[in-house]
Amino acid sequence: MSPPPRVSGHRRRVCAPPGSRLPWPRSRPSGGILSSPGSGGLSAFIAGLPKAELHVHHVGSASPRIVAELAARHPNSAVPADEDALAEFFTFSDFAHFIEVYLSVVDLVRDAEDVRLLTYEVARDMSRQNIRYAELTVTPYSSTRRGIPERAFMEAIEDARRAAAAELGVTLRWCFDIPGEAGLEAAEETARLACELRPEGLVSFGLGGPEVGVPRPQFKPYFDRAIAEGLHSVPHAGETTGPRTVWDALDSLRAERIGHGTSSVRDPELLAHLAERRIPLEVCPTSNIATRAVASLDEHPIAEMVKAGVLVTVNSDDPPMFGTDLCTEYEIAARLLGLDAAGVAELAKNAVAASFAPAQVKSSLSAEIDAYLASWRG
Ligand SMILES: [Zn+2]
Repeated sequence: MSPPPRVSGHRRRVCAPPGSRLPWPRSRPSGGILSSPGSGGLSAFIAGLPKAELHVHHVGSASPRIVAELAARHPNSAVPADEDALAEFFTFSDFAHFIEVYLSVVDLVRDAEDVRLLTYEVARDMSRQNIRYAELTVTPYSSTRRGIPERAFMEAIEDARRAAAAELGVTLRWCFDIPGEAGLEAAEETARLACELRPEGLVSFGLGGPEVGVPRPQFKPYFDRAIAEGLHSVPHAGETTGPRTVWDALDSLRAERIGHGTSSVRDPELLAHLAERRIPLEVCPTSNIATRAVASLDEHPIAEMVKAGVLVTVNSDDPPMFGTDLCTEYEIAARLLGLDAAGVAELAKNAVAASFAPAQVKSSLSAEIDAYLASWRG
């Protein structure tokens, strides 16, 4: 998180299936395809497509609906609980306002019940998009340093995970990430929480926050420790800095997937390496525009990544904060890659293949995607 989002606040169509409701005005960058003639059929296909998401943040997924519920639990907070007032609050005027809103949401997560509510409701928003499996990036350090007891925190996310699976059909797994801006103390604490408390749903260890001034190699000991405990390595790298950062993530942190990796296209040797080693990139197009890592969607390098043979997955990062959702990101990727329904289904299968789900979960979700495509064609 450190994005200056584009600002508008106009209403847009959402990809939630009929019957569900996400009635919020949300900002989104220009250049999408939602108003393109002829995109309606593909949009409907994407809405119903079973999907996996690999790069999406916990607090960054708090939609205005969820924020309203949290605000209602804490009437003394600065965040309005009234729907209309909250919609206005979520219309970002500039970067400083975005940070203010983000921190206000962080401030609403004060106890274990808030954590449980946030996590379960994020899964509910996922289910409305037919996201069936998600590796949610959680930053436990942010909550434990604010006084939420660590065991209560773990119980809250695990309780929400079990309920999401049973009641919503959404399988959640965790990536615990180090907030890079908080330095080595946060790294030490995140590694301790991951390795000592290790909740059942935890599958990976990450590194987020700013890249500039936060060299990846300094985090090697913490990643070594997490990897030794059987966790997968998934740092952010090469979003706001160059390809050297991606090499550092691979060499020092033994990255198995790269968060963003946008600047990889500036280094043909790196692209070839990623393709040859089958190291996936977690691409988040709208986020890249909002953070200005890429100037415009039309200049997004996703097609170069695919052309080089890299396994590309499409993700939403901090979706309500960026005025997007996973369906919208798939629509954008479809336009940039010139994909039809079969191509979009392949993209969805990429995410399943690149996930850390057990083989049986992968094969059944892939089979569901194939069956959905076949029924769509039929
Ligand atoms: Zn991210």
